[in-house]
Amino acid sequence: MKRYMRRLLIAVLTGITLSATAQNITKPDLAPVKELPVLFHQTAAEYRALCYQAFNTAKLQLELQLKKKKRKEKWAIVTDLDETILDNSYSEAKLIKEGKEYTGASWKQWVNLAAATEVPGASDFLRWVKAQGISIFYISNRDTSDVVRTIDNLKGLKLPDADTAHTLFKSSTSSKEERRKKVMQNYQVVMLLGDNLTDFTAFFEEKDLAQRAAETDKVRTSWGQKFIMLPNAIYGDWENAIYNYQRGLTPEQKEAKRKSLLKEPPTVQ
Ligand SMILES: [Mg+2]
Repeated sequence: MKRYMRRLLIAVLTGITLSATAQNITKPDLAPVKELPVLFHQTAAEYRALCYQAFNTAKLQLELQLKKKKRKEKWAIVTDLDETILDNSYSEAKLIKEGKEYTGASWKQWVNLAAATEVPGASDFLRWVKAQGISIFYISNRDTSDVVRTIDNLKGLKLPDADTAHTLFKSSTSSKEERRKKVMQNYQVVMLLGDNLTDFTAFFEEKDLAQRAAETDKVRTSWGQKFIMLPNAIYGDWENAIYNYQRGLTPEQKEAKRKSLLKEPPTVQ
């Protein structure tokens, strides 16, 4: 009888384990998809190398152009802030650890800390730009109410042109085109830096995945010349385009979208 009971117990326990395993397999993967991208920014030396590569290229291009600069010309560069100059990965890391989703409130709380560090190489590059007599304009989609704390953050990092005249933040539209034009009225904009396609031209706004690729190919000679791209594996329009810019999708719907886009090797005939 004892032996029978033991067998029964083993059978029941095995059944429970198997059904739990089956549940894990069929359940959508809700593990934080941002964990590896955040670790890429925070721990991968390859990420640092990509940033240095971007700023070294930018400097080289400006050095070449400066040889042709006429005395009277007023030159400026336009740069984005988040994940181009400022590293906000800490805010994402905190959300992952707390199992929370990004919200407007969580972002505001982070911005108010004015605690972002610099993207590797950013401050050296910007100080060099300023020393050449070139102005720097920070065109960011941070809210206009964030200007004061952001300037505190920029000043803390000893970045040049950290003042209200050089910070053009989002008031009504997330399109940066009008703000770029405003700078172009008084300056010759010789370079743009960003981590998102929309930091460069309006062509890229709200485009689907195929259009983004096509537009990027069309201006292929501008990359590493007038347009300097910084890596951002954590977020951006590249991610929004995966979800067709739809807001409020459930984690399951998002996962289904992601999976549907994974390309397998073409079939060999
Ligand atoms: Mg950015």
